[in-house]
Amino acid sequence: LRNEFINVERLSLVGQMAASITHEIRNPMAVVRGFLQLMKEKSPDTLNHYYRIVMEELDRANSIINDFLSLAQNRVAEKEECHLHDIIHELSPLLWADANLRGQSIELKLGNHIPRLHLNIKEMKQLILNMCRNGMEAMDDKGTLTIETRVEGKQIRLYIADTGIGIPENELERLFEPFFTTKTKGTGLGLALCMSIVQRHHGTIDVKSRQGEGTVFIISFPLDPYVHGLPESQSAAASE
Ligand code: ADP
Ligand code: MG
Repeated sequence: LRNEFINVERLSLVGQMAASITHEIRNPMAVVRGFLQLMKEKSPDTLNHYYRIVMEELDRANSIINDFLSLAQNRVAEKEECHLHDIIHELSPLLWADANLRGQSIELKLGNHIPRLHLNIKEMKQLILNMCRNGMEAMDDKGTLTIETRVEGKQIRLYIADTGIGIPENELERLFEPFFTTKTKGTGLGLALCMSIVQRHHGTIDVKSRQGEGTVFIISFPLDPYVHGLPESQSAAASE
């Protein structure tokens, strides 16, 4: 019965979102159409400028569609036994490039003896990327993004902390609402997607934020009783 209830709720959420998504995608489409029309009689310089706007708006429509699809699919994701640290390392080049462009730094504090988990790797990458991008977007060029892993009790925790602008108290409860954004170029779907990914992994997300100081997102996964592999660094520790 509980399951049915959740499914019905989810359906209506997707229905509501389908309504807003038409609106969200019509905006960039209208901008693109308008600029294409204007392009007919313009100089190369102006064209260049328009070109960039058109590309940005098309990319925006594309991200909305992609994020929305990931969110609406909600299929039972195929999970495999893997290590969070491997996923983080695979994302590193992308994250460092992004941080470099912004003049920001990234710090990794990966814990010892973090056990493996059953994860959907593609979704886990989406989750970490979305969280890290949000962190970077909240910081100026002196900012530091910290990605940390810990085992705490029966949870494996992933901390993604930034030294950015922080989140006002009254916005905290709206963060995970689809289409809630405070950015001119945001889709507002990033955190909604993160939440649905974490829920599919039986995890939770906590947020702590202080305005002007920064924000930390804490993602907790239950220790996986089906994974009996040695904790990652145990063999290394034994040989030292
Ligand atoms: P988007 O990034 O497209 O705006 P998200 O769902 O990823 O959408 O985030 C929703 C909103 O939550 C953001 O617009 C921003 O106001 C707030 N937010 C999310 N992460 C952070 C963060 N690390 N620091 C400050 N604000 C944040
Ligand atoms: Mg985002």
